[in-house]
Amino acid sequence: MIVIDGASVVTLDRQRREFVGHVVVDGNQIVAVGPGSAPAYDGARVVDGRGCLVTPGFVNTHQHLYQWVTRGLAADATLFGWLTTLYPVWARISEESVHVAAQAALAQLAKTGCTTAADHHYVFPRGGGDLLAAEIAAAAEVGLRFHPSRGSMDRGQKDGGLPPDSVVEDRDEILAATEAAIDRWHDPAPDSMLQIVVAPCSPFSVSGELMRDAAVLARRKGVRMHTHLAETTDEGDWCRETFNCTPLEYAAELGWTGSDVWFAHGIHFDDSEIKQLGQTGTGVAHCPSSNARLGAGIARAADLRAAGSPVGLGVDGAASNEAGSLIEELRHALLFARARGGPQALGVRAALEMATLDGARILGRENEIGSLEVGKLADLAVWRLDTLDHAGIPDPVAALVLGTPPPLDLLLVNGHAVVEHDTLTTVDEATLATQVSKTQADLLATP
Ligand code: ZN
Repeated sequence: MIVIDGASVVTLDRQRREFVGHVVVDGNQIVAVGPGSAPAYDGARVVDGRGCLVTPGFVNTHQHLYQWVTRGLAADATLFGWLTTLYPVWARISEESVHVAAQAALAQLAKTGCTTAADHHYVFPRGGGDLLAAEIAAAAEVGLRFHPSRGSMDRGQKDGGLPPDSVVEDRDEILAATEAAIDRWHDPAPDSMLQIVVAPCSPFSVSGELMRDAAVLARRKGVRMHTHLAETTDEGDWCRETFNCTPLEYAAELGWTGSDVWFAHGIHFDDSEIKQLGQTGTGVAHCPSSNARLGAGIARAADLRAAGSPVGLGVDGAASNEAGSLIEELRHALLFARARGGPQALGVRAALEMATLDGARILGRENEIGSLEVGKLADLAVWRLDTLDHAGIPDPVAALVLGTPPPLDLLLVNGHAVVEHDTLTTVDEATLATQVSKTQADLLATP
């Protein structure tokens, strides 16, 4: 049992209660949350929460873990230029490199407040081994709740797609491997640590037939669907030339709207498309840092939320967001929304909701995670706000979202302490850093 006492608590429960009080965890569940001091519990670990803010753990809704060992390349390129530089490097990934990359990327997510991570893995080079198993092992080792994808690409250059033919797969193989992954790994239990997502990569790397068949498969198996959509104007032009429609018209025609679907980026939607996304409950993973790094644009996050679309936050792959820090996405989402839409566009609490409740809704986990309530899973972060960086800021949520990323005193995932005093308890960071350097050097040196 863990008792966090004397902290500022932002519950994000139905009444949006905030107070100075306590949170009590027993096993993997929250058993008490309220203002004032906690009752005494025999044998409990008591965490002194004075000077701290307790929030629900963050949910990362878009990432490519394997990219952690291909950071810093094509630093000044557009999306399509960046992709064509990186595809040949990604064609050489293996179980070993994906395992190291996933451990590092998940470690960084944990250190920046993330308790549940979705991953979009879509590069399965021939002979690369069981890459999904490698990242699932990494998530278990780091200790995060994990929603990995069995992604895919089947539209290579010979079919008018962008990726080289060596990294695309056959459609029937993809569908069989995806179904096998669901059967092997997907756990639908309420306290599940592992759920599989069906995620063809994007319209310009996947055939329409695969998009349609993947949707049918996902719905037959009762799992979520994810893909990249409307990230750049290049993609819009490509869709117009190839299919004579917008990316969303194309996706919708293939069955890709609904509350079981979320799109990464969703930058270039017009008013009627935003309305359609809201009406269908289709979600968007907003990745402000990556979008800015690639100069792709700024998603209309506030308009999407107002329309009823759940908008979660994502760091995206580390090859287009070398920081991989989820706490920074809250601040960037807020700053970019205001730069685009004025001072009322997005509030500090809305940014926090995107990182927690909305992300949980996107993954279909809103009854289990995303807020601090009795009966929900014990996924939470304890942020220290009384050091030089934040001391004196009267509103702790404003301090968290507008200030520099605070020290993370404690991160609980399913009731387990994964981070204590800014340090991972589960994997050795120095060893991991050495492995990352060696893996990236080997990957770049291989012809
Ligand atoms: Zn992405």
